[in-house]
Amino acid sequence: MALPPLVEPAAELSVDEIRRYSRHLIIPDVGMDGQKRLKNAKVLAVGAGGLGSPTLLYLAAAGVGTLGIIDFDTVDESNLQRQIIHGVSDIGTPKAESAARSIAEVNPLVNVVIHNTALDRDNVKEIFSQYDLIVDGTDNFATRYMVNDAAVLLGKPYVWGSIYRFDGQASVFWEEHGPCYRCLYPEPPPPGMVPSCAEGGVLGVLCASIGSIQVNEAIKLITGIGEPLVGRLMVYDALEMEYRKIKVRKDPNCALCGDNPTVTDLLEDYEDFCGAVSEEAQEAVTGSTITVRELKDWQDSGKDIFLVDVREPAEWEINRIPGAVLIPKGEILSGEALAKFPQDKQIVLHCKSGVRSAEALAALKTAGFKDAVHVQGGIVSWVSVIDPSLPSY
Ligand SMILES: [Zn+2]
Repeated sequence: MALPPLVEPAAELSVDEIRRYSRHLIIPDVGMDGQKRLKNAKVLAVGAGGLGSPTLLYLAAAGVGTLGIIDFDTVDESNLQRQIIHGVSDIGTPKAESAARSIAEVNPLVNVVIHNTALDRDNVKEIFSQYDLIVDGTDNFATRYMVNDAAVLLGKPYVWGSIYRFDGQASVFWEEHGPCYRCLYPEPPPPGMVPSCAEGGVLGVLCASIGSIQVNEAIKLITGIGEPLVGRLMVYDALEMEYRKIKVRKDPNCALCGDNPTVTDLLEDYEDFCGAVSEEAQEAVTGSTITVRELKDWQDSGKDIFLVDVREPAEWEINRIPGAVLIPKGEILSGEALAKFPQDKQIVLHCKSGVRSAEALAALKTAGFKDAVHVQGGIVSWVSVIDPSLPSY
C-alpha cells in the first residue's frame, strides 16, 4: 500500500545542499522534491542508544532538517560496543548531547533539538506533537507501550524496532493506515520472561541491521515513495541470515485502536502495566529481601550462608560475588537443581539486578525453602556499593 508523503516540501535547497545531497537528487524517485521534503521533516528519535545511534547518523546524513533526540542516560563504556554515535571522549556525557555533537560533524545543516530528559506520561504528548514522525529505539516494554499509545492518541506514525542477541524486528505503526503495536502485542510479556539487552546481550552490529530498516522506512514515509512497512512486521535472524515479512492486521479488539477501545488516554503507570516482576515474585520477595550491605555483613560475621548466583554461565565469567555458586534460574524453575540446595543453611539468591533472583526465590519458596532470601539490586549493586574494582556489564 503506497501512502502519500508525510511532509510538504521545503521552498528550496541551497547551493550547498544541492552539492551535499547530489546522490539523492539523481535518484528519480527521490529527486529535488523528495530532498525538499526531507529538509522540511521533523523526526524524533526516542533513545540515542543501540538503535538510535545508526538511525540518527543516517537520518542526519540523509538531510532530515530537524532531528529531536530524547535520552536521559549518559554514555558508558559498555555502550561503545554498539552505540556508534558515541566515542571514548563522550563517556560520562549525556547521550543526547554526545549524539548531537556527532550529528553536527556529519551534517551541520541539521537542526538538532536535545531533550535531555526521561520520556514520561507528562511530557510525551507535548514532545511528540512537535514532530512529524517518531523513530522508536527504546529497550523496555514500559516506554514502548507509552510511545505507541501517545502516537496513536496524537495520530502520528512511528517506526519501531527491537533487538535482542541475534534477532531483530521492525515495523511501521500508523493507526490511520494500519495496526498499532498493541494490535501486534496486546499484552506485555510476563515479567522476567523477556530479558533486556543489558541482561541477555545483543550483537552490536544487529543495531545497524535494524536501525537501517528504520531509517529506510522513515525516508519512505517522509517522501511518499515505495511500500512502507505498515501492517507488516519484518523479522530478522542474523544467524540464519534470514529476513521474513509477516502480515499484521488491525485488531478490532485492540484496547487502543479497536472498535470499542478501553484505553482512551495514556495509562497512569506504564511500569506498573508491564510489571517489574511477576505477582508471585513480588509476593516472594516481600520480607525476604536483603541489601548487598547486609549480605557483606553476614559474610564478614561468618554466618553459614549458601549464596547462589542465578545468572547464566556467560555472565558468571564476567564477574561474581566471592563465595557464590552458580545455579542458573532455569534449573531452579524446572526443579532440576532443587537437590543442590541445603536444608540447614541460610539460602541467599542473587542475579544481575534482582529480577531473576526474585523469580527464582518464588520457585524456591514454593519448593519449601521458606527462609530463603534474595539480594536487592543483585551484583550491579554489589559492584557499586561493596566492590567497585569488579568488572561490570
Ligand atoms: Zn491497535
